[in-house]
Amino acid sequence: MSRLMGLYAQHLSANAAPPAVDKATFARQVEQAGNVLADADMVVCGIGSGMSTACGYDHYGRSAAFDCPFAKFERAHGFSSLMDGFYHLYATNEERWGFLAAYIAYLQNAPVGRAYRQLAKLLDGKEYFVLTTNVDGQVRRAFPSESVWLFQGDFGFLQCCQPCCDELVSALPVARAMLDAMGDDGVAVPSDLLPRCPQCGWLRSPWVRDHGFLEGEAWRDGKRRYERFVSDALAGGRRVVFLELGVGGMTPSIIEIPFWEMTRTNPNAFYLRVNMGKASEPRQLEGRSLTVTGDIANVFDMLTNEQETKEQDA
Ligand SMILES: [Zn+2]
Repeated sequence: MSRLMGLYAQHLSANAAPPAVDKATFARQVEQAGNVLADADMVVCGIGSGMSTACGYDHYGRSAAFDCPFAKFERAHGFSSLMDGFYHLYATNEERWGFLAAYIAYLQNAPVGRAYRQLAKLLDGKEYFVLTTNVDGQVRRAFPSESVWLFQGDFGFLQCCQPCCDELVSALPVARAMLDAMGDDGVAVPSDLLPRCPQCGWLRSPWVRDHGFLEGEAWRDGKRRYERFVSDALAGGRRVVFLELGVGGMTPSIIEIPFWEMTRTNPNAFYLRVNMGKASEPRQLEGRSLTVTGDIANVFDMLTNEQETKEQDA
């Protein structure tokens, strides 16, 4: 791991200035990205929060979504983003679950974002796997479940908060019952609707990464499938693309650094990144890497247009 962190630290220090990319360079980068993807035999995708932000789902800032269904929670508690609402220290579990029920229902009812649908179409017909650190359910709903590993969990499920058992239950029916009972103006759920683990009686919690996160059979199954896919991809001498989308700086050890290392050590691999805030890759990947610096929404619109033009010409 120390060599990986060395690669990361060295790269960070070499890229202190924020990227500025002109239109022509951007267009050239997108075209090259389209060619790399078209030539790939297998694609390993790593998706971070920037992908959902590009689809209009901003959990960290104040978004339009926050104003409508969440305004009553802002009035009651003072926070102004969905993530602040999740991490807020509520006076009671009933108030905490009032917000969580609204958040879970919002996530589950939100349409699958445009960039996710475009990516699914671009990858259609290829062998691919998607690893994500997002917990908003977009990846789970955009791609087949056997091709996804939800590394940090997903708000679509609840676990025992200890956890005492390896059990995940669907979160939406629980949230719906709470919202019905709470009504339009309420911010707290009735005590008898607090979700409890039938095994130990403790509260259940959303299945998302925290100190008690359940890395149970569902999580381990995702890990096994991901590792098998990557090892098959790298063993076969085929053209493998590690496609990194919207990955920020919070958890580089999950997607970014392993993708670099696997590209560095495999001559058939190519590292392709789309990110608004990053402009280059480590020197060790030169010739087999590309960063498209720009908004994922624009990039996928352009790639999709390109693909449609090629299909019409064929
Ligand atoms: Zn339990």
